[in-house]
Amino acid sequence: MSDERKTLEQRSLMSEIERLRHSAAHVLATAILKLWPDAQFAAGPPVENGFYYDLELGHRISPEDFEKIEAEMKKETKANHVFERVAVNRDEALALAQRGELAALAPRSEPSKFKFDIIQNIPEGEEISLYRNGEFTDLCAGPHVMRTGNIGAFKLTHVASAYYKGDEKNPQLQRIYGTAFKNKTQLDEYFTMLEEAKKRDHRKLGKELEIFVLDDDVGPGLPLWLPRGAAMIEELEKLAKETEFAAGYKRVRTPHIAREILYKKSGHLPYYEDSMFPPMELEDRLPSLSRPAGFQPAESAEDGQDARPPSQAGSLTSDRYYLKAMNCPHHHKLFGAVPHSYRDLPLRFAEYGTCYRYEQSGELIGLMRVRSMQMNDAHIYLTPDQFETEFNAVNEMYLKYFKLFGIEKYLMRFSTHDPAKLGQKFVDEPELWKQTEDMTRNVLKNSGINYVEVPNEAAFYGPKIDVQVWSVIGREFTIATNQVDFAQPRRFNLVYKDRDNTEKTPLCIHRAPLGTHERFIGFLIEHYAGNFPLWLAPEQVRILPIGDEAPLLEYARAIQAELRAHQVRCELDASSDHIKAKISSAEQMKVHTMLVIGGRDMDANAVSVRVHGKGNLGAKPRDEVIADILSAIKERRS
Ligand SMILES: [Zn+2]
Ligand SMILES: [Zn+2]
Repeated sequence: MSDERKTLEQRSLMSEIERLRHSAAHVLATAILKLWPDAQFAAGPPVENGFYYDLELGHRISPEDFEKIEAEMKKETKANHVFERVAVNRDEALALAQRGELAALAPRSEPSKFKFDIIQNIPEGEEISLYRNGEFTDLCAGPHVMRTGNIGAFKLTHVASAYYKGDEKNPQLQRIYGTAFKNKTQLDEYFTMLEEAKKRDHRKLGKELEIFVLDDDVGPGLPLWLPRGAAMIEELEKLAKETEFAAGYKRVRTPHIAREILYKKSGHLPYYEDSMFPPMELEDRLPSLSRPAGFQPAESAEDGQDARPPSQAGSLTSDRYYLKAMNCPHHHKLFGAVPHSYRDLPLRFAEYGTCYRYEQSGELIGLMRVRSMQMNDAHIYLTPDQFETEFNAVNEMYLKYFKLFGIEKYLMRFSTHDPAKLGQKFVDEPELWKQTEDMTRNVLKNSGINYVEVPNEAAFYGPKIDVQVWSVIGREFTIATNQVDFAQPRRFNLVYKDRDNTEKTPLCIHRAPLGTHERFIGFLIEHYAGNFPLWLAPEQVRILPIGDEAPLLEYARAIQAELRAHQVRCELDASSDHIKAKISSAEQMKVHTMLVIGGRDMDANAVSVRVHGKGNLGAKPRDEVIADILSAIKERRS
């Protein structure tokens, strides 16, 4: 709202909690004015997890001031004032601002300058309204809760600075952040969750558990995967490959770079250029693909130069290459490489493709926002009448994964187009938009999937679904997208021969249920707090002999060899450390299963099992333990 004013329509969509939080921003302003009557307020919208209010004030507000501000806020919520709406005309509003009466408790010597500016930017014809709570009056289009007392519990969280309207040419303001909930219990739960989230932070655990590193010499946003992280990647890829194979997908492989022309064809250039790494200028002898038939290139010229006569070497051209930011154009080329009939469809190309995106360095966060990423990508080419079945199958795959990972809360955000913006923000294909959106909506409705519809946020080339999931502690992540595309296949002239022998353009579904390795593993680290299920655990088993006598170590090595022969990630702690120290170091690395073996275990051909988080489970026959481990991994038991 500070940078871009919310439309009345967007305001009407504000959720109950957003209304409550926005109302809390008014109460915050009321409290600040009681303490500092000359504060000048700009905008005070609800934001994710809370609200803020921007203000200009000589006194620099710090967290030490929070207590007294909160005390004033409490008086205001206790008084249980009504949020009263008053409609005014433009001149009245400007006059009030002139007298300093907006975002104020009473007329003041200085005008309410930011409110004055905001009024002047309200579109002609739009009703202007004020909201009053007690002595406080603000320029505001609402909506609010009924009374200040409806704000059950609140807390100020931090102060930041922000330019008015986000423009650095404008004055710098203080931004006071807070959060509010219906009641104290919810507020407490929220802060407990934040505490827990801090402990589970994937950047912290990723380092402690030796999963990934970021290195300045390699570059920001370019994670390196340590063996433990690579093991998790291998497991996720195995899962995806098995699942996709069973669902009829075919795997393809594509290079990491491509010529500029590919991205011009796809339409990513110039629109997407800011998110791509700058191009490489290469000089090349082209085109080798159209060399005359029967011509044999010299395998190795002695001086290392091209031995072909100049006429056949092709002309020297300079060309631009880009690191790929998405796999779709490459996959479209693969579809187009072979003639297809309707019998080949749906054709599903899958690849864990590596992409590179030029995210602003200030926006890089651990594994959540990176510059190199490996995506659980696939493109499904299909006829319109295959759409519902196929799209449903894609959604089923998402749900299957959620179940496997114990993701109980998820939401699919179904973004649709705005007919008024056809030809600008959205491809000008009204029929196809309607058709694909109707089909998508049907599938979502009929399958009972939890979704919301968001108008005007579709991708350029078709409706889109963003999948949000919540970790067990309630932290939200956007991990995957699922898109319908009817524009790119046309741009690439992709066709299939239909039943009636005519050439038709297929639809394309882009989907990536496991998102990127980076973001998904970041999510999993926090979701499991590093306590991964056996199948996914970087170190599945560690054998801990009590002592280091030769026969005992030999017995331990035999068990390790047997497990490793079955592809179990099993390590052996052959150090001379005391068993307590061995256990503690294995627990610290969150090794899933520890097999403690002493002389008595060896004599009985047994092992004592200890599971991280569950403690000692007692001695069991070796064969039984190994069989259990193997079946738990095979079934990906949680
Ligand atoms: Zn308001
Ligand atoms: Zn794609």
